[in-house]
Amino acid sequence: MAQHFLLSARARDLDIGEIHRLSDADARMRFRELAWPDTAGEPVCPSCGGLDHWTLVEGAKWKCQGCKLQFTATSGTCFKGRKLSYRQLLVCAAIFANGVNGVAACRMAREMMIAYKSAFVLLHKIRQIMGSDEDAARLGGVVEIDGAIFGGSMPRLPNTKALWADFFEKNKAAARKKRRLIVVMRERRGEDPDIPAKVRTFLLNKEGDAIEIARRIVMPETVIHADFSTQWEPLHLYFETKRINHSESYSKDGACTNHAESFFSRMRTAQRGVHKIMSGAHLSRYAMELGWREQYCRKSNGFQHGLIIGAVGRSKPSRTFLGYWRKRPANDDGDFFAQFAA
Ligand SMILES: [Zn+2]
Repeated sequence: MAQHFLLSARARDLDIGEIHRLSDADARMRFRELAWPDTAGEPVCPSCGGLDHWTLVEGAKWKCQGCKLQFTATSGTCFKGRKLSYRQLLVCAAIFANGVNGVAACRMAREMMIAYKSAFVLLHKIRQIMGSDEDAARLGGVVEIDGAIFGGSMPRLPNTKALWADFFEKNKAAARKKRRLIVVMRERRGEDPDIPAKVRTFLLNKEGDAIEIARRIVMPETVIHADFSTQWEPLHLYFETKRINHSESYSKDGACTNHAESFFSRMRTAQRGVHKIMSGAHLSRYAMELGWREQYCRKSNGFQHGLIIGAVGRSKPSRTFLGYWRKRPANDDGDFFAQFAA
């Protein structure tokens, strides 16, 4: 049997220890080279994209000669207003890349010696840019589409069986309301294993809502595989569509959605083994992150690290997560966890 990619030497070319040992100037330069790959680390104005600048602080701060904006390597990106050093950001991205099923905020907080709230926001900022960064590329070839429900589990049963009927009556509707649907569209891998097959995820109300999205982001000559859910019927109008009846088999006459199911398996593993709780409010970002991980699962951690910082360089400040904790009503970590327990 072929060796699993993660067991091979090709999977690892990123040394976190080496990043820790970088001087401030070297870490800054490393960050710049990854964030501005087109100019080999030379500053690019985040406002007008101009390359002409005056240097205010050598290697760290510049003023655009076009729009007169003063900027650093993280100005105008999702890390705008950061308090972490460039070295810490590089290490965070490396830890993120190394967690094949994701990284929990509690773990990041301990690894980096930062507050849980900082780690939570930092990770969500990275998740947010993982998906949005790839929007332009359309899917083609053979694409599998499927949906899965996450969240909405019941609270723990009461101790006494006599109370269970009442308990179900009381909590069932509330639990149902917390259910969320994630739809995945996933290309099948082509013959060249080095070209990643694209994965896109969407938080939707019903599977049928994905049809319009598919028309927009999937190329017309694509063959789409879907299950027997009636929600997928309209696909036949727009694409060559193959359907698989899961009550009979998982693969028949060349039709299957096993690759899409495999993505959901990764999501369930991440929920069970890493995050424990993926709150409905943040589920779409977890899905985007895991879709990105699925897409680049055959790429080394060094390559993924470069992709993350490169995406940071192209990102815009996050409206949701800039000042996230300040915008929330005053609460401490205890209250924050309590909302999920309720
Ligand atoms: Zn400018």
